Amino acid sequence: MLVNNKNIVNNKNIVNNKNIVNNKNIRKESICPVCKSSNTDVFLEIPDVPVHCNLLWETSDDALNAPRSDIILVLCEDCEHIFNCAFDPRLMEYTQQYENSLHFSQIFQGYAKELADRLIETYNLHGKSIIEIGCGKGDFLKLLCKTGKNRGVGFDSSYENVGETPCPDPEITFIKDFYSQRYLNYRADFICCRQVLEHIESPVDFLTDIRKMIGDNHTIVFFEVPNVDYTLKDLGIWDLIYEHRSFFSKRSLAYLFASCGFSIFALNDSYNGQFLFIEAIACTSQSCRKTDYESNMKLLLDQFVRKFHTKIRTWKKEIKTVEKSGQKIVLWGAGSKGVTFLNMIGAKKQIEYVIDINPRKQGKYIPGTGQKICSPEFLREYQPDKIIIMNAIYKNEIQQIMNGLGVSAQLIFV
Ligand SMILES: [Zn+2]
Repeated sequence: MLVNNKNIVNNKNIVNNKNIVNNKNIRKESICPVCKSSNTDVFLEIPDVPVHCNLLWETSDDALNAPRSDIILVLCEDCEHIFNCAFDPRLMEYTQQYENSLHFSQIFQGYAKELADRLIETYNLHGKSIIEIGCGKGDFLKLLCKTGKNRGVGFDSSYENVGETPCPDPEITFIKDFYSQRYLNYRADFICCRQVLEHIESPVDFLTDIRKMIGDNHTIVFFEVPNVDYTLKDLGIWDLIYEHRSFFSKRSLAYLFASCGFSIFALNDSYNGQFLFIEAIACTSQSCRKTDYESNMKLLLDQFVRKFHTKIRTWKKEIKTVEKSGQKIVLWGAGSKGVTFLNMIGAKKQIEYVIDINPRKQGKYIPGTGQKICSPEFLREYQPDKIIIMNAIYKNEIQQIMNGLGVSAQLIFV
């Protein structure tokens, strides 16, 4: 699979794509991907970030030369959607090397199990047909099918093993492809799609296709996306990644689903506020219920932009202080937050290693800054003075692992 990654980098198109991003015309193309309004405003630019946070590299040099582009964040004044107007889908080549599974964390597994149980209970998902769009390695679909004895079809262009090794469970089929109009003939009682919508260039086209596929069926849809309110309120600047075309709020998510022909049952946050989920059913224009959500987006954005640069400056200073004191510091979490943090702070020299419990990431390198990713066991020998933790939700889990290894570094939460 590394060969595929190499091809992406060596491909001359990448260089051309870079020119597209640098072209100032891009600013004029800031039509809202949710409501199509041109009443939009650029509020933050983050130049030269790696385009893939979860595409891992085999050598430090390859990682340092990972493709880069800009994030230019725009607010739609009409539906209050936030999006990256410099996003170019041609730069987004997902391969099997793309590793964003959070399933190695006990906390995340617990969350997924609880969610599957709740959905099965709420929508009586027993002996039903389920489609998951963007199923990744299929962990969640397997959970839904196994627990409720359902049949499942999972779509993912980066799915492993399809066509080579038959899936051991005859009730689950994986299709190694993007979900598209080609698959309109697939019917389901329940469609789920987690952490996908924010990556899609035109969420309206995508959802319209799903609405067509549903037709007159009483299919329930469940979508989950990162919650931009959480990013703004908690100053989660490390969640601003190039891979995300869209940053949904309750308001823009509700607008999108209503405008594509869905009535909303539930729209709320989950995972300590970090995600938003929506549960809806297809409706006709006569039967559609419209729901609007209160928002203080403008105020949140003003505060966010003011604090953004201060936070970057503070962290740069902090890392320099640690360097001067001669202390060893590592970062825990080679996910998108960790990659973004390292790239925005530029701590190539001061932080040499990144720890991750996901064995698929270990031995690989961080895009843009080139740190090696190691297993927690590495800390036993390295004995750092400080560990930067990217997501406080994993605090107890990490502390337990450290206690088990006899590592007593100071934990710092970003
Ligand atoms: Zn809009």
